[in-house]
Amino acid sequence: MAGEAQADCLFCRIVKGEIPATIVRESETTVAFRDINPQAPTHVLVIPRAHYPDAASLAAAEPALAADVLREAGEVAAAEGLDGSGYRVVFNTGAGAGQTVFHAHAHVLGGRGLQWPPG
Ligand code: AMP
Ligand code: ZN
Repeated sequence: MAGEAQADCLFCRIVKGEIPATIVRESETTVAFRDINPQAPTHVLVIPRAHYPDAASLAAAEPALAADVLREAGEVAAAEGLDGSGYRVVFNTGAGAGQTVFHAHAHVLGGRGLQWPPG
């Protein structure tokens, strides 16, 4: 069923506490934790507790949950002191765009200058 935990999904396992993560923020519907391979001084991932393979399928199935992820991304950025300097929220979608974990997640990146266009 849509949204159900997947036994072989890394981020479902982090939600369940089976794999450790440095959690910075939790809500009823989301978890935010530091990326294990940070690409900026602040690099936090915000995920829905429910499993959807990417942001578009999440938004199509549960728009309110997609909004929760976006709101939490903003809360993480504020808590990390990024409001003034600016930050980026990224949803890599598909292997060709660099997605490696197929459980929807927002990257919150900041704390350094960010180039545009991205690579
Ligand atoms: P993406 O490439 O957009 O799918 O992003 C997946 C992200 O998950 C990458 O930035 C990885 O560094 C990160 N990642 C992989 N394993 C872990 C882990 N165990 N804890 C935290 N972040 C992870
Ligand atoms: Zn999952």
